[in-house]
Amino acid sequence: MKIYKFGGASIKDSDGVRNLISILKIKKTEKTLIVVSAMGKTTNKFEQVVDNYFNNKNNLDNSLKLVYDYHNQILENLFENANNKINNEIKLIFRNIKEFLKKNKSPNYSFVYDQVVSNGELISSKIICEFLNNNGVATNWIDAREIIKTDSKYRGANVNWEETKRKISENVDLNQLNITQGFVASDNNNFTTTLGREGSDYSAAIIAFCLNARSLTIWKDVPGVLNCDPKVFKNSVLLENISYSEAIELAFYGASVIHPKTLQPLQKKEIPLLVKPFSDPNSNGTKITRGIKINPKVPCFIVKNNLSLIKLSSLDFSFIVEENISEIFQELHENKIKVDLTQNSAISIYLCIEDKYFRLDKLLSKLKAKFKVKYVDNVDLYTIRHFDKNSSKKILQDHNLILEQRTNEVLKLVVKKI
Ligand code: ASP
Ligand code: MG
Repeated sequence: MKIYKFGGASIKDSDGVRNLISILKIKKTEKTLIVVSAMGKTTNKFEQVVDNYFNNKNNLDNSLKLVYDYHNQILENLFENANNKINNEIKLIFRNIKEFLKKNKSPNYSFVYDQVVSNGELISSKIICEFLNNNGVATNWIDAREIIKTDSKYRGANVNWEETKRKISENVDLNQLNITQGFVASDNNNFTTTLGREGSDYSAAIIAFCLNARSLTIWKDVPGVLNCDPKVFKNSVLLENISYSEAIELAFYGASVIHPKTLQPLQKKEIPLLVKPFSDPNSNGTKITRGIKINPKVPCFIVKNNLSLIKLSSLDFSFIVEENISEIFQELHENKIKVDLTQNSAISIYLCIEDKYFRLDKLLSKLKAKFKVKYVDNVDLYTIRHFDKNSSKKILQDHNLILEQRTNEVLKLVVKKI
């Protein structure tokens, strides 16, 4: 079996869907399963619907209509003669969402989120399946909620691997093309769950793992895994080969090409991950396999913006030792603040942190009781793997250096834009 994953950008309009079918025709479709994301920015639009439902009911209908109109336009462009079957199916999905929101009594934001936002993938997979069938590519539509089973941690559910493996082998038809949704799963009570934003890559990896797939290909709007974000740096270079561990490091520090959870299941079974451009299906893209050396060997730049750098020092010249450090990390953990870099000396510790949930003020007021606290906000962290002597120059052209840390492979710079 081979698994293909198409992200939202690759199917953002009717041309994208047409391109998908041409890729499938080139690549042959037997023993293939495709995983699709929601089209374009649909997930963001559905997030707005959920937000309006809880916080701004007046805008609810409007925001839902926006999602409908967007898909309706794609339907009109894809099907020359109005295709009543798919039109009705899509209408029914929207009617069900409205019905659900009307009847819902749950105040649980994440629960409602999953029931609503998951529809982006249901819609895209239905439209694409119908289009494939209409164009002579027999396609088996699979409801991801039937095959990926999770706990009830809405918006970031954990996979029940045993049950998922069993369900997948029962539902996938090995003799034809299969299509299912990324991101979407279901819990023991059959409520819809999701795997977290950008989770479609992970869905594809789960399925690849359970089917012992030959390979997983992620079709993207870039030539493959690049050594830096082309939106940030000029002269990006395509990495032709990287190892799983290289890819995990790149993903963990924020290279947004692959969802970080994707790699573990693949690595366990040594299933190659290919990242290819959907605009050039015959190119090699990037191949990620076990133990391979990075090729070409060039510095890889990963940027995280808008972080904070905190310096904690003892109030009385006592040392910062394991006991204080573990206490500090406990506080960070409780406030869901992610630490991207630490550096300590006898009487102080630096922490470069990411405050996703705006808990920093609360944390700092607590720490101030025990430490002298200094703090710089809005810093950027550059992680440069395989750095060379020009790497830091590139960044320090237009940044002030605040902190530098290096091992023989990795250079980290905490900087502030000039
Ligand atoms: N549609 C979901 C998102 O945008 C999942 C994905 O695209 O991977 O987060
Ligand atoms: Mg998406």
